[in-house]
Amino acid sequence: MTFDRVWLDANLCTMVAREGDPLGVIEDGAIAARDGHIAWVGRRADLPADATTTTQCDGAWILPGLIDCHTHLVYAGDRAREFEMRLEGASYEAIARAGGGILSTVRATRAADEAALVAAALPRLDLLLAEGVTTIEVKSGYGLELETERRMLRAARRLAGLRPVSLQTSLLAAHAVPPEFAGDADGYARHVAEDILPAIAAEGLADAVDGFTDSVIGFDLAQTRLVFEAARRAGLPVKLHADQLRDDAGAALAARHGALSADHIEYANAAGIAAMAHAGTVGVLLPGAFYFIRETHLPDIAAMRAAGLRLALATDLNPGSCPAPSLLLMLNMGCTLFRLTVAEALAGVTRHAAAALGLSDRGMLAPGLRCDLALYGISRPAELCYWIGRNPCLGRVVAGA
Ligand SMILES: [Zn+2]
Repeated sequence: MTFDRVWLDANLCTMVAREGDPLGVIEDGAIAARDGHIAWVGRRADLPADATTTTQCDGAWILPGLIDCHTHLVYAGDRAREFEMRLEGASYEAIARAGGGILSTVRATRAADEAALVAAALPRLDLLLAEGVTTIEVKSGYGLELETERRMLRAARRLAGLRPVSLQTSLLAAHAVPPEFAGDADGYARHVAEDILPAIAAEGLADAVDGFTDSVIGFDLAQTRLVFEAARRAGLPVKLHADQLRDDAGAALAARHGALSADHIEYANAAGIAAMAHAGTVGVLLPGAFYFIRETHLPDIAAMRAAGLRLALATDLNPGSCPAPSLLLMLNMGCTLFRLTVAEALAGVTRHAAAALGLSDRGMLAPGLRCDLALYGISRPAELCYWIGRNPCLGRVVAGA
């Protein structure tokens, strides 16, 4: 058997769950790659042949490359002034009057050309990659009109050509109601479904369609359904920001439409959780946003476990509610704030994050999957969840290179 490349003297956290070993650990292991895919995984002593290129890992731990399945990486401007005003006691109305809030990001993003969007996003992307991320999802949603939504998605696709990373894009035109449609969420949802979404789909710029269901500041169930039906006509899978601030039955709606994931879900009710598990919809937990907006209503993790719901963890990196370009920090927050186990948290940034993006070719160390690896200088996998603000990543491998 011949391989392109072999990694030796590594401890493997394969994430292929076994009875009594949810991390699928192989100590003193080796991984071999051929044509960008994993060709062999096992104990070093059982490796059938050597390759032309071998890498000694000196006891480092290798995990599947991390997957950040929910980000708003591409945007212009920043919201630090708004953060400062809030700490000085300003109300949301005062901040809005001073030009803050999501519409300030919309204004800045509309004014930025593609090169400016790429330049702003690149340093944020680099921070994620430096932690071992090899796949990232990027949403639009700060244009709220065709031209800028398209430019955001093009900028996202450009990033994938500038760095070794696998990138998935989601059209989130139904993120907020733009000023042009103030007071007419129905009209804007129709515009998304009939004009923006078909145009973006025809250009092949989106891998999925996302929405924001919230009865007070987002789109209601009927408006979201309109967008999801347009996605189905365009042949695109859907996902949803659901039940973040109150129980709007968003989780059940996502499940009914066979969504890849329902995200946030702090307020998702038992029926919604059961429907998600039944439909195979992944629950994406975003503890960074929970922390930053000082939410106190915890997601019902016990009900999610009991239902057998697959849980992912992501950064939700965005300028308004989670300026945190760190997936390792989310591992810690998922454990400290939501009381996930180490095995649940690590599955949330590997195998279940892959499922949340509809990708079956990654997220574990197993023959036939993409050879996306993250190497860490740690003594046990729990360290990835334990540290706050320490990055032990030694290197990444994307598609075997
Ligand atoms: Zn989000």
